[in-house]
Amino acid sequence: MLMQGTSPTVALSAVSKSYGDVTALNNVDLEIFPGHIFGVLGPNGSGKSTMLKLISSVIQPDHGKVRVLGRDCSDEYVWVRHHVGFVPENSVIYESLSATEYLSLVSSVYGIETRTSRERISALSDALATSDIMDELVGSLSFGNRQKISIIAALVHDPEVIILDEPTKGLDPRSFRIFKDVLSMLAKRGKTIVFSTHVLEIAEELCERLCIMYRGEIRASGLVSDFVGTGKDRRRLEETFFRITGETSLESLTRGVGRAFA
Ligand code: ADP
Ligand code: MG
Repeated sequence: MLMQGTSPTVALSAVSKSYGDVTALNNVDLEIFPGHIFGVLGPNGSGKSTMLKLISSVIQPDHGKVRVLGRDCSDEYVWVRHHVGFVPENSVIYESLSATEYLSLVSSVYGIETRTSRERISALSDALATSDIMDELVGSLSFGNRQKISIIAALVHDPEVIILDEPTKGLDPRSFRIFKDVLSMLAKRGKTIVFSTHVLEIAEELCERLCIMYRGEIRASGLVSDFVGTGKDRRRLEETFFRITGETSLESLTRGVGRAFA
């Protein structure tokens, strides 16, 4: 599936971003290619959301360049936003609209023909099992159902690049399975998919390639199989993750909790 020789659809070069005194991203380089499902892994606060917001052109870097489909995300952020689908970590969606009204609004913002948007919304809501809640107010939906509506909203304009920040939070097993299959189908069609998670098993299950972030830096990047190994050499991704993030003795922490509650 790797298309050597093709250009990256997402490219970060020497990108830094701070919030006041907090350095959220420090001199990050990254390339992601079409047809890939790329996982961004890291503990809380490691800079995952900041990186995904930069790629989605929601925020701008302090230093360095972010390019999507060859366009500079600072100079051409309106163009980039129209070619990217973004599922934010905490979706701010209009609570007083029904799911159908909200998705129609999103479709009209993107200028999608009504028939096309109805077909896409209907197919996605059948797949994600949201058909029964489409008339309910978005504000009254459970976290998982809101997440599904947010996923539909990010896909309705058929973007080339799909960015999802912790998308599997709140998905039940059936939805997770469908979500995984839909991502694979989109990747096979040449879309670029980038998602974040702090759950190692989810990264292992969803993607072939990933990077591990720690304190605003990419500490490792490559094929999941490079991290996990094969056959007898099979190491848990967890071991690599904890080595990189410096968490060497989880057992001693657990023992500490045990002692405190003895
Ligand atoms: P992750 O998604 O991996 O949990 P984030 O990108 O959200 O990491 O955060 C990286 C760092 O930047 C953290 O230290 C976080 O507290 C800080 N940060 C993120 N967003 C803001 C913000 N809007 N204002 C101030 N600090 C922020
Ligand atoms: Mg985050």
